[in-house]
Amino acid sequence: MKQKYNIFSLMRNARQYHQNWDKAWRSPEPKGEYDVVIVGGGGHGLATAYYLGKYCGITNVAVIEKGWLGGGNTGRNTTIVRSNYTMDESCAIYEKSVQLFEDISQDIDYNVMFSQRGLLHLAHNIHDMQEIGRRGHANWLNGIDAEYLTPQQVKDMVPLIEINGRYPVMGALLQRRGGTARHDAVAWGLARKCDEMGMDIIQNCEVQGFDIVNGVVKGVRTSRGNIKTKKVGVVAAGHSSVVANMAGFRLPLESFPLQALVSEPIKPVIDQVIMSGTVHVYISQSDKGELVLGAGSDAFNSYSQRGAFNTIEHIMAPLCALFPFVSRLKMLRQWGGIVDVTNDRSPIMSKTPVENMFFNCGWGTGGFKATLGSGFAFAHSLANGEMHPLAAPFGMDRFISGALIDEGAAAAVAH
Ligand SMILES: Cc1cc2nc3c(=O)[nH]c(=O)nc-3n(C[C@H](O)[C@H](O)[C@H](O)COP(=O)(O)OP(=O)(O)OC[C@H]3O[C@@H](n4cnc5c(N)ncnc54)[C@H](O)[C@@H]3O)c2cc1C
Repeated sequence: MKQKYNIFSLMRNARQYHQNWDKAWRSPEPKGEYDVVIVGGGGHGLATAYYLGKYCGITNVAVIEKGWLGGGNTGRNTTIVRSNYTMDESCAIYEKSVQLFEDISQDIDYNVMFSQRGLLHLAHNIHDMQEIGRRGHANWLNGIDAEYLTPQQVKDMVPLIEINGRYPVMGALLQRRGGTARHDAVAWGLARKCDEMGMDIIQNCEVQGFDIVNGVVKGVRTSRGNIKTKKVGVVAAGHSSVVANMAGFRLPLESFPLQALVSEPIKPVIDQVIMSGTVHVYISQSDKGELVLGAGSDAFNSYSQRGAFNTIEHIMAPLCALFPFVSRLKMLRQWGGIVDVTNDRSPIMSKTPVENMFFNCGWGTGGFKATLGSGFAFAHSLANGEMHPLAAPFGMDRFISGALIDEGAAAAVAH
């Protein structure tokens, strides 16, 4: 049983100069064999492991991470959580995820600081108005909260926004239950819980190949030795194509850098998350006071976790037009992550040509919000050998059948 995180343990440990906290998770040597091996120690991989233990009773599990936990996109994203997508299949899985986010802090005894502060999608032209109109109705039909705001209502909620400037605001779609969550807390909290269930979280261990016999996966080859397993779940985000290549097949996705940046910390000025698909920018304020800013992915395929400077200019120019005060701020940090993008902007959760090997990827620029829903559905799929109903529409076969789930508009500004 792990040490509880609460006011009493905090006070007790403060008296001991914080020297005696238990390690949140062990760093074990890999065993020779597991029932399930998860490749990728990001949020989706850890959530998959957690729900495998919680709902499917499978705890002989290893999560194998080539770097450090959450060092991929999980620790690099801008933490936006929402479920107001357009297509029924997307609404179902993203809404499941938001519902799980609402309870996860109690569930795993770890505060992920889920803040349902409200999220606005701005409309600047007729096309935007039509898009949010359609999406809001789709949300209502799927039981997801959505409200339309007039320009004046936007101004009342967000006093610092310029609604009559270069990018006039004609209205907005508001999801009040949308907001942000602390991204690395999600990874750490899930890892701690997986460890408590006896699972092995193995960092600094790269998967370099697979043992495949007669089309069935039998094990993974890693930088720390070979591991036998009955099932493999690959959740490697931007590096999914590289891992698929090791197993001998190609995935219908491309990898791009996606950047974000934060300003110097200032007093609270922005209470919600505000996004604009048309000028391709979004803004929120972290609990530390930094403005968190982002935009779309870079234009060129790359595995460099940096991104190009012209993309930053494309973030800042419209942002200064929408929020003129931002031009007075210094930007503190910029970073990038490698996002895995499909051509219908929907994820891939699928069986593969290799038996007992499953892939969960293609979440692209907006998968943080899906971490829990994806882990929930993928865990059931791995356990049962058949895709869970929430995951089934996102199979790879849709790129052959043509049953695409086009989220180009709702996912247009990353996230
Ligand atoms: C700048 C930026 C901003 C974003 N903002 C948002 C947002 O606001 N809201 C939102 O919903 N989404 C956002 N996203 C997208 C979101 O971060 C991702 O979709 C999500 O975090 C993916 O989680 P994951 O667990 O699948 O991937 P990751 O966290 O990337 O985990 C995959 C892991 O696999 C590991 N790995 C890869 N290859 C191997 C190997 N061979 N062996 C072992 N391990 C391997 C990697 O090291 C990595 O840690 C953003 C992304 C970026 C980059």
